[in-house]
Amino acid sequence: MKLDLNDIRGRFPILERTVGDKPLVYLDNTATSQTPREVVEAVVNMYEHYKANVHRGVHTVSQEATDMQEHTRRRVRDYINASSVEEVIFTRGTTEAINLVASSFGDRFRDGDEIILTVMEHHANIVPWQLLQRHKDIKLRVVDINERGELDLEQYKSLFNERTVLATFTHVSNVLGTVNPVKEMIRIAHEHGVTALVDGAQASPHLPIDVRDLDCDFYVFSSHKMYGPTGVGVLYGKKELLESMPPYQGGGEMIKHVSFNGTTFADLPFKFEAGTPDFVDIAAFAKALDFIEEVGLDNIREHEEELLRYTTEKIAEIPGVKIYGTAPHKSAVLSFNVGDAHNYDVGFLLDKLGVAVRTGHHCAQPLMERLGVPGTVRASFAVYNTKEEADIFISSLKRIIPMVL
Ligand code: PMP
Repeated sequence: MKLDLNDIRGRFPILERTVGDKPLVYLDNTATSQTPREVVEAVVNMYEHYKANVHRGVHTVSQEATDMQEHTRRRVRDYINASSVEEVIFTRGTTEAINLVASSFGDRFRDGDEIILTVMEHHANIVPWQLLQRHKDIKLRVVDINERGELDLEQYKSLFNERTVLATFTHVSNVLGTVNPVKEMIRIAHEHGVTALVDGAQASPHLPIDVRDLDCDFYVFSSHKMYGPTGVGVLYGKKELLESMPPYQGGGEMIKHVSFNGTTFADLPFKFEAGTPDFVDIAAFAKALDFIEEVGLDNIREHEEELLRYTTEKIAEIPGVKIYGTAPHKSAVLSFNVGDAHNYDVGFLLDKLGVAVRTGHHCAQPLMERLGVPGTVRASFAVYNTKEEADIFISSLKRIIPMVL
């Protein structure tokens, strides 16, 4: 199917804005994607008509707000093919979801236990495990990459031993774009009796997610990278695993009964949702999922891959450009440097021409160290980007290169 890009772009008001006197070319979608009007309207609608605290009141507005939040939970369950809504925990984002698992599932780890992760992880999937090391003598074993930016699966296999308690890895690298063979990696973890957590922050906007097919134990992602509102994320966990884990935070919503002699906890998913959730944005998140399904993930992926292929070919021809991440199975992320120019200078000058790209270490400093660079410039695509925008990016890059070299 050919996408109606005019219709799609027309639904994203921000794409009409300028930066200085230049039209905005937004190529920082990996950091956060833009939000269509229907999602923004859903947020406004919640504030204007449905703002009452969820799961608390008998009154009508509270019940309606609760229904809208729980509608999104069912949408997420279906979107990722979870078995039940009890397996869908709302968090503030991917980061909080991983911290939840580190704190709650990590409670059972013992001195000497080992966690396998990869050199391409975002800090959100490194630092929570390091925080555990303050209290427990846990070892982190790190899987390396090859020159194309693909994980070394042989090394991954060799890192398992009887002390391994968790394997955790990103589905898609936010720097290299590599799509990792997570189903295979989960299978290998399970062969060793090891629990597997997948960081899906960069996969969920681009790839179909089927947690039952993957057979992952945990899968985490953020709404704001999926055309949805900020402040909402999802932790999927297998029910029996979540049931075996202690609460992460204490407070309202997550209890059955509280007394000073002891407290009992609510059933799933509420056991892990202490306090007032971001029910306004959770409710609106359903509209973002509607948007993705209406446009179609296959169409989104095909369009983004075409933009990636086109732009990669064009910028690879520019003398001095080095691209990081050339795996055949890649998502719409293009990281590069120009000669020994500083990534910041490139990004700064592109911004003067209206082109928004990311610069720096992309919250993946260990990966930067592995690549031997302080940072990269990163362009990343979403469904609303066009070939014309890719051309503006390419010609702007050519224009600024003499200024930075
Ligand atoms: N993991 C990956 C791979 C990411 O790209 C990001 C966001 N850049 C995160 C985790 C963290 O997501 P959030 O900031 O939404 O919690």
